[in-house]
Amino acid sequence: MKWEENVRKVVPYVPGEQPNRPGMIKLNTNECPYPPAPGVKKVLKEFDYEKLRLYPDTQSTALVEALAEYYGVKKEQVFAGVGSDDVLAMAFLTFFNSEKPILFPDITYSFYDVWAELFKIPYKVLPLNEDFHIVPDDYKVENGGVIFPSPNAPTGVLESMETIEEIIKANQDVVVIVDEAYIDFGGQSALPLLEKYENLLVVQTFSKSRAMAGSRIGFAIGNEKLISYLNDAKFSFNSYTMDSLTIQIGAAAVKDGAYFKETTDKVIRTREWTKKELKNLGFSFQDSQSNFIFAEHKEKSAEDIFNYLKTKDIFVRYFKKPRIDNYLRISIGTDKEMETLIKELSEYLK
Ligand code: PMP
Repeated sequence: MKWEENVRKVVPYVPGEQPNRPGMIKLNTNECPYPPAPGVKKVLKEFDYEKLRLYPDTQSTALVEALAEYYGVKKEQVFAGVGSDDVLAMAFLTFFNSEKPILFPDITYSFYDVWAELFKIPYKVLPLNEDFHIVPDDYKVENGGVIFPSPNAPTGVLESMETIEEIIKANQDVVVIVDEAYIDFGGQSALPLLEKYENLLVVQTFSKSRAMAGSRIGFAIGNEKLISYLNDAKFSFNSYTMDSLTIQIGAAAVKDGAYFKETTDKVIRTREWTKKELKNLGFSFQDSQSNFIFAEHKEKSAEDIFNYLKTKDIFVRYFKKPRIDNYLRISIGTDKEMETLIKELSEYLK
């Protein structure tokens, strides 16, 4: 059909399955197994539904101010969006506007190349080393920007502060985005580097450590100038993005630092237990500092294990992609869920 010639064609990102059967164990999209902070429930109970008559605050002020206070930055340094996917997409659109290719790792969050294709941004993927770490020297070439997650997805591997700074330092003529979707499970954030580098944008999410994937909240922190460019792009696209209820529950979640620490600590403890058990069963993996473990088994194929677990109503994630097609990405659930997983795996592997 002639009209199809001018259609913008993209191969979309494929999100993890969202099955929802009673009793099933869902370890496939890195959600938090615990509920959001109690303050979130309180806001939901007390929310005056009549307020929905009005448009929301385009600046998400209550949430932005809560985040600024929590992270010790100015509110002009914070940008909130509808999940970090929204924030990242806006950042790609705003900052990656060069003829030169942007750089990111070969094994990484599979939305990056989708956005690059969608926005017609040239890109180059750089192989991680054997241990799934970034090779900083590879990033010392001419480019139109850099993005990588730390901890990386789907590997769970955290990059050292030295590596991160080395990359930012070598790329001060472009924007470097550090995607910290999984930083709250033991990693050290790159946020302190904001004092030294104005080309750094740190992106985080409420979907994992703050147990609010269903609310779609993400945010970026950077210097005021970067954030103001991000706002210009947002207000040229869709100004009313986050709804009024979400702004309030997001702010309530950030204000409860104690609950946040309690749940992330619990996930970390369960992760360390799961690492030991998986090792005993013959799995190997790089050390994960996230809320999932990316593991391969010496003898059994990942795809077969994945399919077996499905028959037991346990969902993990499997990517049929080069270099990682013998790995399973297993999100950390409750202790009970992980005990069931280990029991089923030992049944299968015996
Ligand atoms: N970055 C990375 C590395 C992720 O794994 C994810 C989760 N799919 C996201 C960003 C997006 O998360 P959300 O849009 O739920 O904030």
